[in-house]
Amino acid sequence: MNAVEASVRDVAAPDFATTTFDVLIVGSGFGGATAAYALSRAGLSVLLVERGGWPHRDETDWNGRAILLDGRYRGETPLLVRQNGAREPIETFPNEVVGGNSIFFGGATLRLRATDFERWPVSYAELEPYYAAAEALLEVHGRAGEDPCEPPRSTDYPFAPLELTGPARRIRDEAAALGLHPFQLPVALNHRGERAPRCINCFTCDGFPCRIGAKNDVTQTALKKADPARLTVLARTIAARLAVGSDGRISGLEAIDRAGGRRLTLRARAYVLSAGALGTPALMLRSGLGALDRSGALGRYLMRHCNGMVGYVFPFRTNPEAVNHKQICVTDRYESVRASEGTALGVIQDMCMPPREVVRVLGPSGFRWAASLSADRIQTLLCIAEDEPRAENRIELAPERTDSSGLPVAQAIHEYTEADRRRRDTLIALARRILRRAGGLAGKVRLIDSFSHAVGTARFSRSREDGVLDPDCRFWASPNLFVVDGCFMPTSGGVNPSLTITANALRVSDRLAAHLARGQAATTTPGAREVA
Ligand SMILES: Cc1cc2nc3c(=O)[nH]c(=O)nc-3n(C[C@H](O)[C@H](O)[C@H](O)COP(=O)(O)OP(=O)(O)OC[C@H]3O[C@@H](n4cnc5c(N)ncnc54)[C@H](O)[C@@H]3O)c2cc1C
Ligand code: SF4
Repeated sequence: MNAVEASVRDVAAPDFATTTFDVLIVGSGFGGATAAYALSRAGLSVLLVERGGWPHRDETDWNGRAILLDGRYRGETPLLVRQNGAREPIETFPNEVVGGNSIFFGGATLRLRATDFERWPVSYAELEPYYAAAEALLEVHGRAGEDPCEPPRSTDYPFAPLELTGPARRIRDEAAALGLHPFQLPVALNHRGERAPRCINCFTCDGFPCRIGAKNDVTQTALKKADPARLTVLARTIAARLAVGSDGRISGLEAIDRAGGRRLTLRARAYVLSAGALGTPALMLRSGLGALDRSGALGRYLMRHCNGMVGYVFPFRTNPEAVNHKQICVTDRYESVRASEGTALGVIQDMCMPPREVVRVLGPSGFRWAASLSADRIQTLLCIAEDEPRAENRIELAPERTDSSGLPVAQAIHEYTEADRRRRDTLIALARRILRRAGGLAGKVRLIDSFSHAVGTARFSRSREDGVLDPDCRFWASPNLFVVDGCFMPTSGGVNPSLTITANALRVSDRLAAHLARGQAATTTPGAREVA
């Protein structure tokens, strides 16, 4: 535990059974922690409920086997996943920790482009000031003006980026030699910030907690900057069900204390869900809110990008200093399919090779052993393609399956379209050209089938027939229920989602604070609501 975490945790705990908070937030990832920051700073009392414990931040947090194979942060509740044409679902166990996936993220913090907002109920111009605020909150290091399809910016980045490492320079030079415009990826890692410690640019960043707390995850940024007198974090507590009145108002949250199994009823004037694009719809469905959703979109339109990692073997050691080199991004082809497919193509990013012992288990099938033996001679690029929102791709509650707390287990059902795969393969072909030009001899592709970029399962919309949330991300059928995680996104766009989730959580928090100041979230009835 570091000082930041201690200061949030050691707030004098109120009597949860009798206190009515202004706002209760479920989930402490980018969305939930950002809302906790903004709402507590707006003078509201906030209770943040998170099923995971605090990050350990010890030597084992940088151990590839412990984190990526043995699942040190893996939760006990299964998520069933049926994908890629499989008839039967398989069990997976998502990580659970205070800070959510920000703890494991690779730091890439890009804005969506103005064109990505064509099917959204808000425009890029409306979100722009919140993007700027999100970059300040997460202390993003980047350089404006180099990204060939960069959207308009009202501010510069808070910090200049780190100098390029050797492996990143190799990718930059060879991509530029192909006529592309590679630029330095904006990242939320503490290279030049004022707080200690600074990043030591180690090799175990993407996918790992930062042992020394130099990654700008939300425990080091949003929770640290929240008002400690107004924020209470209740870790290791599962949000089980919302109590819903006949008018759609939420009157309480039934929660389970994981330490003792005790059931609690927690109350607030307004409720903010941020349990992630898989967890939030599961909680809403468990609470019977599907019956109040007129659009039928709750749990549906699950997206996660269509991603692949391309690795090439080189005749030399590609990263002899063993540094983090997730520093380069290529967006040149971002708009190339917009006219024909209505989506972005996506981006290519530099990426570190996972540790040898991990490659041996998770490398491309048929080549695991060979790849692990030559791991220090491999360099990889990550291709992130936009995927389409399809109603068939969804989160639902698995029939007759409950977890150890007696709660219905969630099931993700997902298939990519041909067009999704084509966009990814176009990026992969370009990534191969870059790596071959850089001296790569032979390459393999590993397709990514995790839900690390999941979004879309409670999309916001201009009408309640078309989406689950109104433009303020308030559940159309409930005056005091808001959602701030990646669920709200009607399309996935072609860049990593965290900065957009953070920006939107700041926007929604502004609206919610205004609603509460006017007494609206507590008093307005469905159908008679206005959007501020
Ligand atoms: C390895 C990895 C690398 C990534 N790298 C990047 C990157 O470089 N850039 C980028 O933009 N994105 C990246 N991402 C994606 C990014 O981390 C996610 O998009 C983002 O964290 C989602 O934020 P969120 O707030 O929507 O949800 P989450 O971060 O998933 O947070 C949800 C939280 O809710 C909690 N929760 C769930 N259910 C309950 C419940 N019933 N009760 C209480 N709590 C609950 C969970 O434990 C979790 O803490 C990466 C993801 C992974 C896994
Ligand atoms: S690269 Fe920096 S921020 Fe990332 S885990 Fe290593 S020290 Fe932490």
